[in-house]
Amino acid sequence: MINSEFDLINQFIAPPAFKRADVSVGIGDDCAVLDIPAGMQLAVSMDTLVEGRHFAVGAAPEDLGHKTLAVNLSDLAAMGASPAWVTLSLTMPSSDIDWLCRFMAGFSLLAKQHEVQLIGGDTTKGPLSITVQAHGFVDPQHYLRRNSAKPGDLIYVTGTLGDAGLALLAQQGLFVEQQYLASIRKRLDRPTPRVEQGKQLARIASAAIDLSDGLASDLQHVVLASNCGATIHVDNLPCSEAVRTYVKETGDWSLPASSGDDYELCFTVPDNRQAEFEALLPDFGCQANWIGTIERQSGIRWFDAHGDVIDPGCGYDHFRQ
Ligand code: ADP
Ligand code: MG
Repeated sequence: MINSEFDLINQFIAPPAFKRADVSVGIGDDCAVLDIPAGMQLAVSMDTLVEGRHFAVGAAPEDLGHKTLAVNLSDLAAMGASPAWVTLSLTMPSSDIDWLCRFMAGFSLLAKQHEVQLIGGDTTKGPLSITVQAHGFVDPQHYLRRNSAKPGDLIYVTGTLGDAGLALLAQQGLFVEQQYLASIRKRLDRPTPRVEQGKQLARIASAAIDLSDGLASDLQHVVLASNCGATIHVDNLPCSEAVRTYVKETGDWSLPASSGDDYELCFTVPDNRQAEFEALLPDFGCQANWIGTIERQSGIRWFDAHGDVIDPGCGYDHFRQ
């Protein structure tokens, strides 16, 4: 019998999916108490998912558990951090035990995979909203920023682009062949944070960002912060067969170029370290493709296979009027 918020926390949230030795005090007291390894710095990030805004009413709770953690781990990956601890703020309309157990199952599975421990949070009643704060370690000499790309650096992305965007279009009624539906849905609902790749890149990339709002929008953050520009060759954008089919049929590059929610990494490598980077690729854990080059001239220029300039559209902006 669930009598209170405390029962809910104790029974369904507190049992750790993964226990770390660097947690002196976890869930159950007023604060968590933690050890940061000597010589490392803490990288901290937070993301909120709101029902009706970031996910549909009635979304599968297992997927939400996975995705709220995944998007935060993706931010750590973009800095080249090793994830360690997370806190979770849950606002729920009612004490729905079935929903909570399924949410925690999705959350815990990914936490265990990345050896991350849930060390605290808050539970309140209200419209469904989920906030996760993630904490990871970085080597002070080797972490990745957005502001350190240099003219001549090569631009790469991990994985494939546009699958989550295509899944959203399919949800909104766009016809997508049956054979592609499961894989693109998975990309939207259960993104893979590129944590291992981010850690490897920390020693070699000059800058990085994770792709939450779309390549066009997120790369813009890199070039603005780095006070430079970029050239991108759209025919080099890595696409799944599903997205490639869409691009072929419509001539529209906006899915791989500017749709959001892929949670891949976009990063830059100094050209004199290209060979060293490409030597990592066999054990990198996912594909990484060269898509363009950082340039002195500001702005991003997009070229198609014929060398013509194209406009790929913009990423999703929550506050655009
Ligand atoms: P306080 O009233 O001191 O803020 P709470 O009653 O909110 O404490 O929480 C009790 C304990 O449970 C704390 O250790 C808190 O971090 C943890 N906790 C509460 N909600 C969550 C949650 N959603 N996820 C993880 N830990 C939680
Ligand atoms: Mg509280």
